[in-house]
Amino acid sequence: NVAPNDLNAFWMPFTANRQFKKNPRMFVAAKDMHYTTSDGRQVLDGTAGLWCCNAGHARPKIVEAVAAQTAELDYAPAFQMGHPKAFELANRLIDIAPDNMEHVFYTNSGSESVETALKMAIAYHRARGEGTRTRLIGRERGYHGVNFGGISVGGIVKNRMHFGTMLAGVDHLPHTHLPEQNAFTKGQPEHGANLADDLERICALHDPSTIAAVIVEPLAGSTGVLVPPKDYLQRLRAICDKHGILLIFDEVITGFGRLGAPFAAQKFDVMPDMITTAKGLTNGVIPMGAVLTTADIHDAFMDGPENLIELFHGYTYSGNPMACAAGLATLDTYREEGLLQRGAELEEYWQDAAHSMRDLPNVIDVRNLGLIAGIELAPIEGKPTARAFEAFLRAYDKGILIRTTGDIIALSPPLIISKAEIDQLFGTLSDVLRDLP
Ligand code: PMP
Repeated sequence: NVAPNDLNAFWMPFTANRQFKKNPRMFVAAKDMHYTTSDGRQVLDGTAGLWCCNAGHARPKIVEAVAAQTAELDYAPAFQMGHPKAFELANRLIDIAPDNMEHVFYTNSGSESVETALKMAIAYHRARGEGTRTRLIGRERGYHGVNFGGISVGGIVKNRMHFGTMLAGVDHLPHTHLPEQNAFTKGQPEHGANLADDLERICALHDPSTIAAVIVEPLAGSTGVLVPPKDYLQRLRAICDKHGILLIFDEVITGFGRLGAPFAAQKFDVMPDMITTAKGLTNGVIPMGAVLTTADIHDAFMDGPENLIELFHGYTYSGNPMACAAGLATLDTYREEGLLQRGAELEEYWQDAAHSMRDLPNVIDVRNLGLIAGIELAPIEGKPTARAFEAFLRAYDKGILIRTTGDIIALSPPLIISKAEIDQLFGTLSDVLRDLP
């Protein structure tokens, strides 16, 4: 175990570090569905790490691929040079992506994928002679990482309020969750598609030909599992098409099987112009992100005016061999075990298990889709977030890892979860919720 003094040097200033130091929780190993804690306990992973270990932990193929890659080719620059696995992985990604996606741009994280996609959207219009299209539209309660572009289009005010000037010309759509949806809806709510029409209101406010792109999480994950109403994304797509605005899906959480299809775009049958990814791309093992784009967007860069071809954007670690090896082995594992479809196969079982929480004390809403669920608790008066956080602590002590955001419990287990483990996850959680103050 780590001595209390050893907890001092490592500082994550923007997280609840103080609370952690009073009661440190350390993982020392992980295998398949379980973490091992520093005091030797097994904890069932109900969150796939941080929504990323979709194939579970320490999967042999991925472990071996990364080890072999270290010895074979540890690093190669991705600018004037290449290495075969970067091309192989890009092709494999395009194979599973929506039909209109044809090109891949590598990054190292979800935040970087978002910055890249926002820059690409503006540069794309410029390449086509529409340099006035620079406005970006996000959505309230959207989470797009922590960099300046991401917090600007992101819909969490407290993440941007201390940082002065944000990106100019950003607006936010209302979030998709209406109070009347708090009725334990199963799957997609029927009401609220009209919230997409707010994009028309924003277009009327500005000249729509100044808007470059709309960025949304198809299903908002980290702000509380907000399932979009039926037809909402279709309506967004139609309005974007009408005004020549690009539609970006941030699939950092929803990509790689979380909703029972490789991408949410396929689950909802809506084709965006760009998809931002990370997390499940390498099963969380090596940091990597990727932006998927249409041929149109790619061609605008490659065939556009000279100054855009020379536009510089890319990262030292873009498409690095270690990440590509991890990505390829991850996609192999997904394919061999049918994991990208597993969220569809288990959807009903998962839904029933999640909705069995609805009559427990303080539960005011349950939301689900694929293998993701949100269980919203009534806040303790004057102490928002305290009830869910207490649930997290008690769940951890009882051997399950859950995640909380505000007073919402979010569950997103590795896609290898068995029905017995789903029962264990929700069984333990219901014990926790039953006894919660
Ligand atoms: N976009 C979405 C939708 C996310 O959920 C996240 C991370 N939770 C990010 C972007 C940022 O990813 P990262 O933490 O890898 O930068």
